[in-house]
Amino acid sequence: MKQGSVKERVCRNCKRIVSGDACDLCGSTNLAPTYQGLLIVLKPELSEIAALLNIKKEGYYAVKVK
Ligand SMILES: [Zn+2]
Repeated sequence: MKQGSVKERVCRNCKRIVSGDACDLCGSTNLAPTYQGLLIVLKPELSEIAALLNIKKEGYYAVKVK
């Protein structure tokens, strides 16, 4: 996991890692500063984990949000 990077937070709604003030996927501003585990989804349509977590867009996701 990267340490000390620019404002990296995780959306509590869809668990997407975002760098801005709002989630670029669901638009939520309910962001958590800490998370555990990093899940990289490249092809959500082919990923069982993505289906399990209801991820439909490629990108970086947290496994667990604190
Ligand atoms: Zn979101």
